[in-house]
This record gives sequence, structure tokens and C-alpha cells, in this order.
Amino acid sequence: MPPPPVRDDLRTTRPYVTVPFSSPIRPLAHLNNNESPHPPSGRHLAALRAAAARALATANRYPDTGLLALRTALAEYTGHGVRADMVWPGNGSNETLLHLLQVYGGPGRTALGFGPTYSMHRQIAAITGTRWAQADRGPDFGVSPAAAGAAIDRHRPDVVFLCAPNNPTGTPLDPATLDVVLGAEPGLVVLDEAYVEFSAAGSRADLLARHQGLVIARTMSKAFGIAGIRVGFLVASPDLLAPLRVVALPYHLSTLTVSVALAALEHAGESLAHVPGILAERERLRGALADAGHAVAPSDTNFLFFDTNTDSAAVAAELAGRGVLVRDLGHAGWLRVSVGSPEENDVFLKVLTEICTIGGSPCPSV
Ligand SMILES: *Cc1c(COP(=O)(O)O)cnc(C)c1O
Repeated sequence: MPPPPVRDDLRTTRPYVTVPFSSPIRPLAHLNNNESPHPPSGRHLAALRAAAARALATANRYPDTGLLALRTALAEYTGHGVRADMVWPGNGSNETLLHLLQVYGGPGRTALGFGPTYSMHRQIAAITGTRWAQADRGPDFGVSPAAAGAAIDRHRPDVVFLCAPNNPTGTPLDPATLDVVLGAEPGLVVLDEAYVEFSAAGSRADLLARHQGLVIARTMSKAFGIAGIRVGFLVASPDLLAPLRVVALPYHLSTLTVSVALAALEHAGESLAHVPGILAERERLRGALADAGHAVAPSDTNFLFFDTNTDSAAVAAELAGRGVLVRDLGHAGWLRVSVGSPEENDVFLKVLTEICTIGGSPCPSV
């Protein structure tokens, strides 16, 4: 008997690609996922260990479903008057975005994004049968208020995704563009603030009180440095979030996850203390790339988007072959590199220089 046919609309959808665990490559520099290069350590690590141990002691019981302690801690962390009933946590913000589109997207509905942007927005639209419409960013990778208004008029979306700052380009969001999108009242506006802790602009959670259709997506995977624990959350009005309980599976957050996340929030200061150092390394990387003849997009994040001036897929493959993982997102010529530890960044720069000075290489000379 052959395997059954896949759902028609999923046949051409490819899985989200990252380096598989089974990869034979042992990376020297892990600069492809925008993670924190700093593992928990010292008192912070001890607190996470103790939290995990407490969770294990009640592992016979299903998790708490109200998640009040976690929602309260996330609300406090978010600030801007956000209350616990305005927080929806999940296993990474990707899961919470899936919950959102399961409720507010779906067949017959359209989601609009501005590319190049975070590919999971499109992927989650595909998974939920939501039509995806994409408008292009300008040459500076920004979205002008006029371009946003025109795209909304053209596509009449039910959901608009804005990434602030944007992944993979690092670009901040023009506040005037957000005003235009909110003013158009397209239905649901998703503001993905995965990198907000690195951003000079800060969170726009202040807008939630006035805009019932706005939802902000946040994560503990980036500046917080616990990508492996899988915690993200949405912030929105309680009325917008309440229907998500219909689509979330029961007990979706494990006792372990909740306990460790709470401990991580108590030690937020330790994780966030790394941010200035990461930003300083970003500026060092930016300078070195620019000196080597690469155009680098302005970044308000912990990563840089740069022009290889050649076949970016080939450069990414050459880097990977030498143990340096960066991300090729299919934007011709350009690659995204995460800011790693100073040692990882040095390896990246050294290997990129090697690749670019191999005879006949099309990289700019350094
Ligand atoms: C990394 C990232 C996320 C976070 O995903 P998690 O599921 O929370 O790990 C969300 N949005 C964007 C734009 C990201 O780059």
C-alpha cells in the first residue's frame, strides 16, 4: 500500500530548514540561528538547575494549565502596564504564532508580510491554510508608510506581519509605518519583537491599550539565551487571546519548561547583561565587514545582513565546510551572520577572508 496523499495545499511546502542535528559538521562558529553565544553560568545556571529539579519532583502530575505565575512574570518583564491576562505563553513564539493563525488565519483568509523577512511567518501561514501575500521591502530593507498602505490596499489582508527589528535584515520598523498599518485596521496586526532587547527603539507594548487588533510576539530564545528551553509569548488584549485556548493542546507547556522559564525570568539581569557586549561585537564585525568591501545593512539586532558581492550560497557552503555556520536566506548575494562570542566572530572573519583570497574567488579583495 502506498503512503496516503498529502493535503493538496501542503504538497509544495518545504520544511523550515536549519542545520540538522545529524549534520557531520562540528561547527567552530555557530552563527546561523541568532542565539545567544553565552550559556547560562554561575548563579544563573544553579537557579535553572534547581528549578528543573523542583519540576521533576512533581513529574507524575500534569502541568498547571492556568500558567498564572509564568504569565505574571512575563507581564512584569514586558512592562508598559501589561497584565497577566494579556500574556499567552507557548513553546517558543513560533508555537504562539501558530495558535494565532489557527484562530485568525485559515482557508479563505490572507496574511501579508514584507520580504525579505522571517520565513516562519510564511510557513505558519502555509501550515494553517492561510493565503500568503508578500510585498517587497525597499532598497534599504525598510517598509515605508506609503508602501505599507499600498500593500494593504492591494492585498486586503486579514493578518499583517511586521517584524521589528526585521529578521534577516536587522532593520528597525519606521514608527510611521506601524501607524499606517494600525490605522488601516486590517484585522490582526502581528508585531514580531523577537529582537527587541537588542533594539534602540524598544517595545511598542505601549500601543496595546489603544489597539485591540494588535498582538506582539516575544521570545526568550534570543537575548534571554534559553532557545533550547523553548519559551515565547504573545502580548495582546485578553479578548484577542481568549480564543487561542480552543486551538492550543491541553498542557502545552511542560512543568519543566514553566519552572525553568520562571527561574530564567528571576535571573533576567544576568542574561540581559550580555546585551551591551553583543552589540559592541556587532559593531566590531560590521566595521571589519565594511573594511573588507561588503555592504552591511544597518542592524538594530544581534545579527548582520551583508552583501557577499558574489554567489551567497557558494560562500555559505564554503564557510560551512570550514566549520562556520551562517544563514543563506535566498536573498541573492546576501548572507546573515549572528553575532557570536568574540572567538566565534574572529573565526568567521578569518575564514571569510581565507575564502575571499583564494585564487579566482569572486569575493572583494581584503
Ligand atoms: C528567532 C525568532 C523567533 C523566535 O522563535 P522561537 O520559537 O521563540 O524560538 C520569532 N520571530 C523571529 C523574527 C525570530 O527571528
